[in-house]
Amino acid sequence: MNIQEKVKKTLKKAGIKKKDKIVVALSGGKDSSVAAYLLKKIGYKNIQGFHINLNIGKYSEECLERVVELSQLLDIELKVYDMKKEMGSGMCYLRSGIQSKSKNEIKNCAICGVIKKWILNREVRKLKEDYIATGHNLDDEAQTFLMNIFKGSPQLSANLGPKSRNIPKDKKKSKFIPRVKPLFYIPEDEIRKYSKSKKLPVVYEGCPCALDSYRIQIRSFLENISNKDKKNIVKNFEKLLPRIQKTKDPRMEYCDVCGEPSRGRICKKCRLMKIRERNDFNKK
Ligand code: AMP
Ligand code: ZN
Repeated sequence: MNIQEKVKKTLKKAGIKKKDKIVVALSGGKDSSVAAYLLKKIGYKNIQGFHINLNIGKYSEECLERVVELSQLLDIELKVYDMKKEMGSGMCYLRSGIQSKSKNEIKNCAICGVIKKWILNREVRKLKEDYIATGHNLDDEAQTFLMNIFKGSPQLSANLGPKSRNIPKDKKKSKFIPRVKPLFYIPEDEIRKYSKSKKLPVVYEGCPCALDSYRIQIRSFLENISNKDKKNIVKNFEKLLPRIQKTKDPRMEYCDVCGEPSRGRICKKCRLMKIRERNDFNKK
């Protein structure tokens, strides 16, 4: 089965309809670009792009350029969220503010990931769309599952899958926008090859700030594992899912500070912001 057929099958099995309104979270990298390209090619009609300009110097400038180019190529609308304009600072500045006050214990990618997720959900909700599609691939998913195991928290995997599993019954009232991962079963090297063969406008270099994450350690640990074995990790996880779900952590609530979906009373993003502010206040 080629990549297009595999993605088509994944989306069909996940129950995503051709007329559903889907916002593709476009980073400028190969994965999300291939996800958007294939969604369009397979015949999903209501898709648009959403890009967060993280303002990480030249890297972000290039990502933005490629995303604009891709959207023109696919003839889709593109919304750009500029962190500096909307939140007062770019990712580097925001992150170093948090890290300097937490003894550098929180890693770059952990902070960036939490903030990007928060922005995506909030902004896409304003657009009144059905789904957020991301470029997460088979390698990402095998890494996440193993990370949760190594951290002793397999229950954090209870929501993993090609489509969010915690979709509330009353979708209209919920503030959580379900996620879909069209490339869930596609290995990263296959995506890179496909992107190059289609000559997609893509930034192939990774983010210059991704230096020290736990995910990077797991990624190198998985480097010598075949794609078949990566698939086995994900497939085994799917078999274990019913049992993992029984140990699931508390239901989704809303954050007391910002009102966004959260696993606890205060969401991860607001907890990071508190670290930044509390210490400032103590210094005065
Ligand atoms: P990452 O957290 O960098 O591994 O990215 C995971 C997914 O999040 C990507 O495949 C994209 O769909 C989305 N994403 C990452 N960075 C951005 C960004 N700057 N703007 C919009 N979506 C993004
Ligand atoms: Zn919050």
